[in-house]
Amino acid sequence: MSPAGHAFLDSLNPEQRLAVLHGDGPLLVIAGAGSGKTMTLAHRVARLVADGADPRRILLLTFSRRAAAEMARRAARILARLPGPRAAALSWAGTFHGVGARLLRQEAHRVGLSPGFTILDREDAADLMGLVRHEIGLAGRDSRFPLKATCLAIYSRTVNAEAELAEVLDTAFPWCRMWEAELRRLFGSYVDAKQRQQVLDYDDLLLYWAHAMLEPALAAEIGARFDHVLVDEYQDTNRLQATILGGLKPDGRGVTVVGDDAQAIYAFRAATNRNILDFPQQFRPPARVLTLERNYRSTRPILAASNAVIALAAERYAKELWSDRGSAERPRLVTVADEADQARCVVAEILERREAGLALKEQAVLFRTAHHSGALEVELVRRNIPFVKFGGLKFLDTAHVKDVLAVLRWAENPRDRVAGFRVLQILPGIGPAIAGRALDRVAEAFDPEMALAALAPPARTAEAWPALVGLVGRLARRAAGWPGELADIRAWYEPLLQERFADAAPRAADLAQLEQIAGGYASRERFLTELTLDPPDATSDEAGTPLLDEDYLILSTIHSAKGQEWTAVHVLNVVDGCIPSDMATGRASEIEEERRLLYVAMTRARDHLALMLPHRFYVHQQSAAGDRYLHAARSRFIPPALLPLFEETRWPAPRPAADPPGAGGPAADIAARLRAIWG
Ligand code: ATP
Ligand code: MG
Repeated sequence: MSPAGHAFLDSLNPEQRLAVLHGDGPLLVIAGAGSGKTMTLAHRVARLVADGADPRRILLLTFSRRAAAEMARRAARILARLPGPRAAALSWAGTFHGVGARLLRQEAHRVGLSPGFTILDREDAADLMGLVRHEIGLAGRDSRFPLKATCLAIYSRTVNAEAELAEVLDTAFPWCRMWEAELRRLFGSYVDAKQRQQVLDYDDLLLYWAHAMLEPALAAEIGARFDHVLVDEYQDTNRLQATILGGLKPDGRGVTVVGDDAQAIYAFRAATNRNILDFPQQFRPPARVLTLERNYRSTRPILAASNAVIALAAERYAKELWSDRGSAERPRLVTVADEADQARCVVAEILERREAGLALKEQAVLFRTAHHSGALEVELVRRNIPFVKFGGLKFLDTAHVKDVLAVLRWAENPRDRVAGFRVLQILPGIGPAIAGRALDRVAEAFDPEMALAALAPPARTAEAWPALVGLVGRLARRAAGWPGELADIRAWYEPLLQERFADAAPRAADLAQLEQIAGGYASRERFLTELTLDPPDATSDEAGTPLLDEDYLILSTIHSAKGQEWTAVHVLNVVDGCIPSDMATGRASEIEEERRLLYVAMTRARDHLALMLPHRFYVHQQSAAGDRYLHAARSRFIPPALLPLFEETRWPAPRPAADPPGAGGPAADIAARLRAIWG
């Protein structure tokens, strides 16, 4: 037993101290957001090392590489304050996937792998799935067989949930039920192809590791490498990960897991809350369970609102958090007209806070899906505010947005080879050589449309060629006007989108949004200039990613914001259809996961929290209804009974009556818009 005399324990509360000083038996810390679970885990690592544990024999598993690095840094910082030299470097801190890759490479020959295996990322894996699908004849043009990305998602779920294909199809992909036999054949061939090529996909990293743990001798050997295994965010692990943990330490000795069932948000990737809830009973005697009730992160009003949101959940391991951080500021519900105003409001408030001394890095904007931040990103770029985005590509860096912008740039300047090169190669059958020759002709010609029309495209391109020539001509003549030109480009591009990308629907939605954004600019030239759209190879790498000591704003999906905290947080689109997402309004369990997502988002805030409510919400419909505005309603997770916990505001604030809008100018615009919406 450790001496309780370490000075660094003084800052902990009694429950946290119990967890840090707990001995070798299995331990579960289950507690709400911001209660210090991650901090306690870092202190426990430091305490173990301070008491003589070998840091090279500690396995620390977290949800992201970023989180692992952060936790290792925290532990090292605590140890650095102790007298005497301490080797604090943890050599085994990482994600399940990362640690799995390392262990598998070391033990490759014993699990039937070549030590030189390579790893496919999700996109590579989907490509391989597509290739195999083609090879075994399941990719006929008019077949309604699921796309490669869907096939991979189904495959991945069967692997991670350790479930039967039929069951996965029934519960998660019912529209693919009719293809069970074909999918089975496809997955068999996919597995063969991976084995032939000695490649592993992400799921294999867990799968092979879990299988290795079923081999008792090997499992004992791998388990014996570690004296302590600590896992953060245990609520978001899946069956395979629980199998791995159980295989490493069957009797639970040295195992600590921490998590919060109210923050389980990865069921869509086969994570199961059962892992954390069933953990104690997995052992004889059962694991010790500690809970933490004091929240150190958020002010009382923010915590009260978050607690109230999660209290409406259908089922959870009941725990109430308290905080002694008093504040008069309630979280705000900010109504704005639409997404464009939402972007302007968020930027205005963030800049105001920065003026008041709060660095951009201390502020974050969170959203349900990566493409919800499109309008905001454009506004940030326009106003030269640096930001990083987690959980998805930056809007302006996505292939489809770049394609459409390249068309615009090429129209603006037919001699822009980078743009033209990109546009021409969108067409099937056109590669760099043909594109280069076509651009030479355009450069020599007076009229780009005529130059292109005079070219004989390759046979594969013949069908698509006239449409491009026509588009180039219309854009050169400015036939559609601004921003009608973007609608014209979209109409041309969308069929190609279907052919180029498996996930065409969300990309089409992005482009609809780009058209909306473009409407806010006076002309094509202004739009392109304001976005400072240099071709990517003209900007240095450093320009893309802000330097470490530079200040920048954080944009993140809620999923990627797990475990983090900021002084001020804006959450976008807290309306039905976004939270809960309209993709998830089906089963009750999915709705509950969406509720937890809102809880996770709200509990990231320390002092200031704003939930944004665009009054009108632009949706892109695949159906005959086309694009349209929907009147959006406040998320159902904030029913009227909860409103007293919030402050309801509008942006821009309505003008006082004594100050009537003038005959023209922005004030009149705003007034007219307000009348149109609320009048
Ligand atoms: P989440 O559920 O969001 O992952 P968590 O339970 O892991 O949250 P931490 O991130 O570890 O919580 O801690 C939240 C904040 O509270 C951090 O800023 C941390 O430094 C602070 N904190 C935790 N415990 C204490 C304590 N005993 N004294 C002072 N501050 C604390
Ligand atoms: Mg945490």
